[in-house]
Amino acid sequence: MPPEPGLKIETNSKKVRAIRKTVLELLLASHDRECTLCERSGNCSLQTYSEQYGLREIRYPKNAECLPKDETNPSLVRDPNKCILCGACVRACSEWQGSVLGFANRGSKTVVQPMAGKNLADVDCIYCGQCQAVCPVGAITIKSDIENVWSELSNPDKKVVVQIAPAVRVALGEMFGLEKGQNAIGLIYSSLRKLGFDMVFDTNFAADLPI
Ligand code: SF4
Ligand code: SF4
Repeated sequence: MPPEPGLKIETNSKKVRAIRKTVLELLLASHDRECTLCERSGNCSLQTYSEQYGLREIRYPKNAECLPKDETNPSLVRDPNKCILCGACVRACSEWQGSVLGFANRGSKTVVQPMAGKNLADVDCIYCGQCQAVCPVGAITIKSDIENVWSELSNPDKKVVVQIAPAVRVALGEMFGLEKGQNAIGLIYSSLRKLGFDMVFDTNFAADLPI
């Protein structure tokens, strides 16, 4: 029905809530629900909505086969077992980079994957991370090197240097509750030195050059 003046749309009726709850249950029935081990736990739309809709049990049997995780890309990890097939990454990639990601198969076998079912390291991925930025769950995550960094920081025979991107001077401050837009660069330098880095390099004017 096309929208028209006076049209009333119910977005929170009993029926609408019941339908949303069923959709969540169906998504979770084919989902790897190991929240405690998931990179996105605490920052995941599926987890948030499941909590909001009071999901405590799932009426449907677990119905998905376990697919291999793709950790071949140096920057990103793709876990198809957590994908909810929203298509946000496919769109982001096709609008900003190319067509590295796409839908494959049909019905319950549908997956989102790099072209021709290849690994993410074997396609034209430029590691921009836009797919990860729009993914609402833990299906595409940034590869973490945190443990390697801790290990190098505790190595007395190694000089460890860090180089930061321009955007973090404000973004990190906001994450730690500073006023929006406040420049936290001084705090960042001293925190990194306290963590044990021997030198801190700040990317500044150089970041404007490739634009
Ligand atoms: S993607 Fe979300 S719901 Fe799924 S395991 Fe991770 S945190 Fe939990
Ligand atoms: S954005 Fe995430 S959940 Fe959505 S299709 Fe892509 S990988 Fe799957």
